[in-house]
Amino acid sequence: MDAVENLHEKAFRSYAPGHWPEIPPEQWNDWKWQLRNRVTTLESLEKKIHLTPEERAGVILSGNKLAFAVTPHYFNLIDPEDANCPIRRQVVPRIEEGNTAPWELADPCGEDSHMPVPGIVHRYPDRVLFLVTDRCASYCRYCTRARVVSGVGEQELHTDFEEAFRYLETHTGIRDVLLSGGDALLLSDGKLEQILARLRAIPHIEFLRIGSRVPIFLPQRITPEFCKMLQKYHPLWMSVHVNHPRELTTEVKEALWRLADHGVPLGNQSVLLAGVNDSVEVMKTLVQKLLQSRVRPYYLYQCDPIRGTSHLRTSVAKGIEIIEGLRGHTSGYAIPQYVIDAPGGGGKVPINPSYVLYHDEEKVVIRNYEGKVFEYPELAAEKTGANLRDDVKCASGCRGK
Ligand SMILES: *Cc1c(COP(=O)(O)O)cnc(C)c1O
Repeated sequence: MDAVENLHEKAFRSYAPGHWPEIPPEQWNDWKWQLRNRVTTLESLEKKIHLTPEERAGVILSGNKLAFAVTPHYFNLIDPEDANCPIRRQVVPRIEEGNTAPWELADPCGEDSHMPVPGIVHRYPDRVLFLVTDRCASYCRYCTRARVVSGVGEQELHTDFEEAFRYLETHTGIRDVLLSGGDALLLSDGKLEQILARLRAIPHIEFLRIGSRVPIFLPQRITPEFCKMLQKYHPLWMSVHVNHPRELTTEVKEALWRLADHGVPLGNQSVLLAGVNDSVEVMKTLVQKLLQSRVRPYYLYQCDPIRGTSHLRTSVAKGIEIIEGLRGHTSGYAIPQYVIDAPGGGGKVPINPSYVLYHDEEKVVIRNYEGKVFEYPELAAEKTGANLRDDVKCASGCRGK
């Protein structure tokens, strides 16, 4: 029961009493101080928490795969008494990162083969990812771009900005550009503004988005000046990345409200992770707290089969169970779309519990969130020109026969 009650605890401040008791608030609230004082070494980590042998070996291993780095803000959310702490599991490396299953890949979503120019991933007809840096405020151990992110992996990101802008200018079908990386919010206000202004000067680009975990790892970065700068480039949306309710601290909530106050619509992308958020209870608390932070849950990702992440992945059945546990049980606005990013570069595929039990020319038989079954009359196909899907007709539980 304790764990459940903790989840519903009101947001708390990450600042004090933590592992940096001597630091005055002016320093703590300075995002550059936070970056300079990240926990990055085994020595500094061991001074703060008691590591398990698996973690100790994991930190040593991380040195030539995906760097270990955690901001003081996020570090303070770790429960030092709990080796299975959901915050700790996301950022402290473990020896299991060295295990590679045969089906795991360095580039599970086939991004490298969809890169027409260095730094642009163009997989869908009308939108692209623009990778503007390879650095993040802290490193998620399940990073889908671990091969290029943090500067110690096997590949390097060499975004050619001039070539990228030329690509975007000459491909008039691109109407949506998503800044990613790495984390675009690690760039200075000036550098980021240069990129945004340049994109806004391209007439066919209608919609700008930034994918960032900085509001969570480093909420101090979301200054009023920064938000005022963003405001000049609307429509500009932001996708943040929260996996566990404890991440929504008072500081984070303030940062998110500030972005929303400056007209930035906020979505959240969670990754389904074993021992972090693989339960209906945790996810329900998370999505409801997100709405209170003015963030609309957008996607729940099945964790990509990235090398060395099997200890963090869970089954697709679990993901479906979570969505089923949300739909009907809480606000529709709180329910993310569960997706698998198809291995090899097929893009995001929606995965849903099946609510259609039977479907033919005359009727569709559906069930609701309570399992009650209903029938709805189908309009004849010759009138609508619609084709009935065979896969649904053959779905299990054909009670309408
Ligand atoms: C996720 C992603 C997008 C954006 O997809 P939406 O479903 O529009 O949010 C665009 N390009 C690539 C390569 C992506 O992985």
